[in-house]
Amino acid sequence: MPGTFDVLPPESRRWEALLATFARLVASAGYGLLITPTFEELSVFQRVGESTDVVRKEMYDFVDKGDRHIALRPEVTASAVRAFVQHHPTTPWKVWYAGSNFRYEKPQAGRYREFHQVGIEAFGSADPDLDVEVVALGWEYYAALGLQQVELLVNSLGDGVCRPPYRALLLQFLAERRDQLCLEHRARLEDNPLRALDCKKPECRKATADAPRQIDHLCEPCSLHLARTRAGLDALGIPYRIETGLVRGLDYYTRTTFEYAGLALDSAQNALGGGGRYDGLVGEMGGPDTPGIGFALGLERILLALDAEGVETGAALPALDAFVVDFAGGDAARDLTATLRAAGLRADRAFDGRSPKSQFKSADRSGAAMALVVGPDEAAAGAVAIKDLREGAPQVTVPRADVVDEVRRRVGR
Ligand SMILES: [Zn+2]
Ligand SMILES: [Zn+2]
Repeated sequence: MPGTFDVLPPESRRWEALLATFARLVASAGYGLLITPTFEELSVFQRVGESTDVVRKEMYDFVDKGDRHIALRPEVTASAVRAFVQHHPTTPWKVWYAGSNFRYEKPQAGRYREFHQVGIEAFGSADPDLDVEVVALGWEYYAALGLQQVELLVNSLGDGVCRPPYRALLLQFLAERRDQLCLEHRARLEDNPLRALDCKKPECRKATADAPRQIDHLCEPCSLHLARTRAGLDALGIPYRIETGLVRGLDYYTRTTFEYAGLALDSAQNALGGGGRYDGLVGEMGGPDTPGIGFALGLERILLALDAEGVETGAALPALDAFVVDFAGGDAARDLTATLRAAGLRADRAFDGRSPKSQFKSADRSGAAMALVVGPDEAAAGAVAIKDLREGAPQVTVPRADVVDEVRRRVGR
């Protein structure tokens, strides 16, 4: 299918590492796994923002056999809000997710119809210290993966009090310069004047250079919120840059918005992830007024950044601890792999009574750290020969009863 891809082992080990690292990190901060359907009624996503690209032209939607108009999810936040409204869990409600999202557009290099994200959402607190927690978790994730060239951009989009007057001010400013904007933002100016601010086209950049900035027109509560958020990032030693053009692609953000840029990537496509506060969204989707904040991080983009920085996440780890090579009848292969696996070690073996040569080839291909060899001599002596497959250490023979301890010692677990 165009715009989709498979991930096979061993390449998928990198994906395993991305997911396991994320799950461990956010679980340590009290976030629980949320699983929502991959498709929802179209209206769930439409309420998120009629004027955004995601909803206007990229939604992967269709009418099903039951005449329902449904859409494959373009992002998870809307589904998380829908789930929150439907199940009304106690707050604060802190959840994380990992999975596929979809957009319907012409497939092109680096843009897929099905793409993958991890993310978190936290509902029920307007405390700016929660903004700091959320922003910091994304930052720590990149660090845990080994990425070093990441820049954190932060902005405030105001709230229901200070955004409307700012929006009017911006619209007036841009309407006077309408013919200097790019064609797209000329036509859509009234829909969402903020989008011209993060347009990458030179016309829009030039025309908006001196545009009024939301950050200079915040009401006092928004101003205090931003100050406390900044103080928190400073206290945690997380560097960031205020980027007043950062408006994000979705309409629902309020106050804190942020983005992580991969500086090793081409600047036109360097967003590794981002998010923000959406204090009005639960109310707009039919729930009780509940503040919320979250982020989504794109796994394909993160893999590109890891490649660009030369970081070998996951692939550097041995896939297996040991591979059992048995040419003494097969009982040792059967029993030893079971013993190793029961001890929490990763072990595999060959089947079908293959020749020693063929089994050693499988052991090499498996990526195991060592081969545990049982030929007729070892079987008779109740012993196992250990052959290092990575470092080339000399082969040793140990009593069968000591094998688990010896493998543990060698792999450091
Ligand atoms: Zn533009
Ligand atoms: Zn405000």
